[in-house]
Amino acid sequence: MKLENQLKKEVQKVSNRVVEWRRDFHRHPELAFQEERTSRKVRELLTSWGIKTETVAQTGIIGLLEGSNRGKTVAIRADIDALPITEETNLPYRSQEEGKMHACGHDAHTAIALGVAKVLTKFKDSLDGNIKFIFQPAEEGAGGAKPMIEAGALDKPPVEAIFGFHVWPDLPSGKIGLKKGPIMASADDLKLTIKGQGAHGARPHQGRDPITIGADTIVALQQLVSREVEARQPTVLSIGSFQAGSTYNVIPDKAVIKGTLRTLNPEVRSYIKERMTEVIDSLTQALQADYELEYNCQLPPTVNTPGYIEVLKEVAEEVSPGSSIVLNEASMGSEDFGYFLQEVPGAYFMLGTRNPDQGVVHPIHSSKFDLDEAVLPLGVEILCHSVLKSLIN
Ligand SMILES: [Zn+2]
Ligand SMILES: [Zn+2]
Repeated sequence: MKLENQLKKEVQKVSNRVVEWRRDFHRHPELAFQEERTSRKVRELLTSWGIKTETVAQTGIIGLLEGSNRGKTVAIRADIDALPITEETNLPYRSQEEGKMHACGHDAHTAIALGVAKVLTKFKDSLDGNIKFIFQPAEEGAGGAKPMIEAGALDKPPVEAIFGFHVWPDLPSGKIGLKKGPIMASADDLKLTIKGQGAHGARPHQGRDPITIGADTIVALQQLVSREVEARQPTVLSIGSFQAGSTYNVIPDKAVIKGTLRTLNPEVRSYIKERMTEVIDSLTQALQADYELEYNCQLPPTVNTPGYIEVLKEVAEEVSPGSSIVLNEASMGSEDFGYFLQEVPGAYFMLGTRNPDQGVVHPIHSSKFDLDEAVLPLGVEILCHSVLKSLIN
């Protein structure tokens, strides 16, 4: 039997279990770095299939499927954490944990990666190389990718290529969204404290008003994006919080401004960061205030290696003709998979899950989020093929 047909058969065999695993994880969501149950289940399953496992970064699991023949090592990464959201669906498998929900579909990611592991163990004897399964905790906010990499997720043996993916309700069920180059944005946080001097509201000249200085600063920072960045470079600076004072007629001592910067280009990212400091420094100096700026580089952009997008495209068209879609635009959202792609080549794709007939239309992070489970086996099959193809290329 041809390998493609053999794979399809094995994927079909495991597909009910993939759905069961997904529903089980969905019922028992766990937040960042608290994924004890999920992690234990992943480890038990991998071990039962003869895959070596290691627990790292608290609740992360690295599984290594060693092929019988020597060769490259290719990795798949799945994130395993849930969100602090109370689920508002009536699904039979809805969250049983108040205030926690798999509203970003990481339950499906974990189940799909397990499906790939189960299927590929069947091919161990003919495998030229190794496959690594990276089950990463804390994708949402807390940042689990970095500690996984620091713990050696990409070493021992060194990973030569990596695949990541996200279930994507913006795309119709069964479509595969692909984009060369950047697909998700960088995300940095800033906290700016303007230190003025308080005064009576009737006598502002006796103080230094941090509110007007803060307002000027926000406008000036927006001009960095609109006037200094080339118009075709997607860049977003959003100020989400401006806190100062407490009443009508008192000028406060300080104002605290918080915001986020998103870019697709590492050069634009460092340019804005540098210019931000210059603008804040000279503006506050001119207006006679002090400041403190905390700038945290949180996540790099997720930048796909074109060659591996080609691999995914070929595979998607073989497995499900007409399924691949070229995404013209990146998402300005972020994903810590970018850390992996900073270290090794690879690709991140979107697996369409939108199905209006089933009422599956809600965006990720919605309390009503769900996905079309019919796409789970497709995700398994595409990843199995892509990994095998990358081992021999
Ligand atoms: Zn999310
Ligand atoms: Zn997510």
